[in-house]
Amino acid sequence: MTKADLSPGIVAGRLDGDTLAAGFADLHPALTAHEASVAADRCYFCHDAPCTTACPTTIDIALFIREIAAGSPLAAARTILDQNILGGMCARVCPTETLCEEVCVRQAAEGKPVEIGRLQRFATDAQMATGRQPYSRAAATGKRVAVVGAGPAGLACAHRLAMHGHEVTLHDARIKPGGLNEYGIAAYKTVDDFAQAEIDWLLSIGGIRLEIGQRLGGGLTLAALQSDFDAVFLGLGLGGVNALRAEGEDLGGVRDAIDFIADLRQAEDLANLPVGRNVVVIGGGMTAIDAGVQSKLLGAETVTIVYRRGREAMSASTWEQELATARGVTIRHWAQPVRVIGTSLENGGAAREVEFEYTRTGSDGLEGTGETFRLAADQVFKAIGQTLDGAPGGLALEGGKIKVDGQGRTSLAQVWAGGDCATGGDDLTVTAVAQGRDAAESIHQSLTEG
Ligand SMILES: Cc1cc2nc3c(=O)[nH]c(=O)nc-3n(C[C@H](O)[C@H](O)[C@H](O)COP(=O)(O)OP(=O)(O)OC[C@H]3O[C@@H](n4cnc5c(N)ncnc54)[C@H](O)[C@@H]3O)c2cc1C
Ligand code: SF4
Repeated sequence: MTKADLSPGIVAGRLDGDTLAAGFADLHPALTAHEASVAADRCYFCHDAPCTTACPTTIDIALFIREIAAGSPLAAARTILDQNILGGMCARVCPTETLCEEVCVRQAAEGKPVEIGRLQRFATDAQMATGRQPYSRAAATGKRVAVVGAGPAGLACAHRLAMHGHEVTLHDARIKPGGLNEYGIAAYKTVDDFAQAEIDWLLSIGGIRLEIGQRLGGGLTLAALQSDFDAVFLGLGLGGVNALRAEGEDLGGVRDAIDFIADLRQAEDLANLPVGRNVVVIGGGMTAIDAGVQSKLLGAETVTIVYRRGREAMSASTWEQELATARGVTIRHWAQPVRVIGTSLENGGAAREVEFEYTRTGSDGLEGTGETFRLAADQVFKAIGQTLDGAPGGLALEGGKIKVDGQGRTSLAQVWAGGDCATGGDDLTVTAVAQGRDAAESIHQSLTEG
C-alpha cells in the first residue's frame, strides 16, 4: 500500500487509484461453484432449522442450500426470491453474524457457521446472470396502487403487487431508485453498481411505472394519491438526521455522515472525493462504522469513532466493529462531544479539534464525568441517528415512526407503510423487504376480497 498524502485539511486524492481500488474491493467475493459445493456440504439440513427462524424474511435456508448441493443454483435462487425478492442485495449486506449464521448449529458446535450469506449470493447471482426473473404477472386486476419510496421496502412491495396483477406507480424523491441500497450501504458491500442492476432486474416483471424526482409533500400529496389510487404504500425511510447539539457544529468540515456516504456511493472516481487527515466520527451504529471505515480507505491518517456508551450498547454488530478496527479505525467508548473547536471565521472557520467529556452510567442514566479530552479533527462526521422526515399529516405516529399493525396498515384507510419509516422493524434492509412484501399481501387481500 502506498503512503497516503498527509496534507492537513480535507483534500482529494490521498491514495493512488490502485490502492483505492484494493481497499474498496468486494468485501465478500463470490464463491466459485466448487467453493459453494464445499460450503453447502457443511449444512446439516436441519429440521425446524434455526437459521430460517432467525431470517426476517423466513427463507427456507436448509432447502436452498440442499438445492445448491444438488447442483441446482437456479432452484435455490427461486427458493430465496420467493421470500425475498432482494435476496441478492441481502446476501451482500445482511448482518448474518447476528441473524441466520449466529444461530446456525455449526456455529454452536464449531464456532464456524455455514456461510449462508455467501451461498445465498451464489444462488441469486446465478439467477441474475440469466438476465431473467422467475416470476410473471398474474392477469391484470385493474387495481392501481401508489408506492412512495423506491428503497428496499417500496421495491419489495411493488414487485409483489405486480406479481398479483395490480398496476403500480413507484414514486421516489431522488433521481435514482434504490433508497439506501443506492445511497447508503458501504461501497465495498455492493460493488459493480449492483443496486441498479438488481432494480432493473426486479422491474423487468412489468406493471411497475417508476416516477423519480417525485417527492411526497412536494408536488405530490397523500390526499391526491388516495383519490387517484386504490391503495397507497409508504416506504419513506428515515430522511432526517439528529443534530449534535454541541458548540461549533456549524464549522466547516462538520457534516452528516449519511451525506458523505451518499457522495461516496455516487462518486465516479474515488480519487476525487475529499477526506480529512484526522477524521472523527460521532455515533455507534452502522452509519458511524461505514463513515469511519470508508474515510480510512480514502486515506485519512487517523479515524476515531467516539460513542457515548459501552461497546455492547453500540448498534453496529461486533463483527462490524471488528471490521472497522481491522481497517485501522479506533473506537473509543464512554465519551460525548462537548464542542468542536476551529479556526476563526476570518481564517476560514474550519474544524480543528473536538472536545469530548467522559461519560458514565449514573442514577438518572448517562451523565458526564466532567473530565474532558480533545481529538484532532479536520473532518467531523455526525452519525447519531436518522429520523422520520416529512411524514404526511394525519398519520398516527409511535416512537417517531409511522404506526402500523402486523399487516402494515396505518391509521388511515387504504394507506399502508413499511421499512425504516414504520414501527415494528429494526432498520435493516432485510426487515424492510419483509415489511414491504407483507404489506403488499395485505393490500392484495384488501383489493380482492368481497
Ligand atoms: C449508512 C448506512 C449503512 C447501512 N448498512 C446496512 C447494512 O450493511 N445492512 C443492512 O441490513 N442494513 C443497513 N442499513 C439499513 C438499511 O439501509 C435500511 O434499513 C433500509 O434501506 C431501509 O429501507 P427503506 O425502504 O425502508 O428505506 P430507504 O432505503 O431509506 O428508502 C426510502 C426511499 O424513500 C424515498 N423517499 C423518502 N421520502 C420521500 C418522499 N417524501 N417522497 C418520495 N420519496 C421519498 C427516498 O428517496 C428513498 O429512496 C444501513 C443504513 C445506513 C444509513
Ligand atoms: S442451522 Fe446451519 S446447519 Fe442447520 S440448516 Fe441452517 S445453515 Fe444448515
